[in-house]
Amino acid sequence: MTKASQHPASLSTPFDFSRAPLLVIWETTRSCALACDHCRADADTTAHPNELSTEEGKNLIDQVQAMGTPIMILSGGDPLNRKDLEELIRHGKAAGLRMGTIPAATPNLTRERLASLKEAGVDQIAFSLDGATAASHDAFRRTPGAFDTVLRAARWAREMDVPIQINSCFGAWNWHEFDALAELVSTLDIAFWEVFFLIPVGRGAKLGGLTPAQFEEGFVKLRKMTQEKSFVVKLTEGQHFRRFALQQESSGGAGVAARVEHTVARPASLRAGLRLPKRAVNAADGFLFVDHLGDICPSGFLPVRRGNVRADGLAETYRHDSLFRGLRDHSRLKGKCGVCEYREVCGGSRARAWATTGDAWASDASCAYEPKS
Ligand code: SF4
Repeated sequence: MTKASQHPASLSTPFDFSRAPLLVIWETTRSCALACDHCRADADTTAHPNELSTEEGKNLIDQVQAMGTPIMILSGGDPLNRKDLEELIRHGKAAGLRMGTIPAATPNLTRERLASLKEAGVDQIAFSLDGATAASHDAFRRTPGAFDTVLRAARWAREMDVPIQINSCFGAWNWHEFDALAELVSTLDIAFWEVFFLIPVGRGAKLGGLTPAQFEEGFVKLRKMTQEKSFVVKLTEGQHFRRFALQQESSGGAGVAARVEHTVARPASLRAGLRLPKRAVNAADGFLFVDHLGDICPSGFLPVRRGNVRADGLAETYRHDSLFRGLRDHSRLKGKCGVCEYREVCGGSRARAWATTGDAWASDASCAYEPKS
């Protein structure tokens, strides 16, 4: 029996977030030629001398597979700065994982490198677009030409038949561009549009997020897109979309919650065999982040170190660490999230609560809903 056929993702059982995250992101390096305004990692142009080695990375991939997680994303910094990126992807594919990566839009992003990633077996490549025009995107990324680099790379990926994801981060600075950006991404023949709602950490701490009213406005538009577009819309750090969609359905709207893939990619290859819980993915709850030094954190947006893969077991930390367990315990939620009738399916963004109040169990101030109680 191969590792892939033993994998829990092949079982037609509900995915248990208390046993394993659906998705692990490994920040393979902090090294990046860009200096984007919202960067979580405060990325640098040089790699940290103590970042995980190839062998340590392969060991991490093996731990992800053994834990029962089906999806692994190799992020950065710029993962293309790692010469072993293809070797790591190959290792993950051999282990039966769905492997994705998120290259930065720099001169490293060549047609030859994309072909090399495809040859290694990458399942999906994500590119970031945060502005609808070259002027706004390049200003945000502080790199002239970044917008054109993304569009060119997306065209190459399409020609090579590599599934494309576009990542877009929204906050106060670019909310006015939502409609134009939605229109642009709709022309790129993508498989997924992942919409991030800013969490004020790293360099993003000085940027403003959306107001509760803007979230509701965005949810209306995103819900409509899920009904009209052929690609999958994913939301990250907008857990209260679950509440919004359920409210719409209970008031007679067409069912949509099942079509929005909240935070996680659920590719066609997994849809048939994997039943997801009716609970939003959240920090330490369906999700785990490993930084470039191997530190294990609930999320890149909730970067509290709870161990290191050089010394601590990944599954052990995810399943038994007190912070990880506590973040999955919705009875600990405070404020209006604590009394909300949607707290089990939504729970609010734990990363936003932590970033804005210092308390990971505080209510998510970006939600417009007032619980009945
Ligand atoms: S109050 Fe909290 S739990 Fe309820 S819908 Fe809003 S964010 Fe979710």
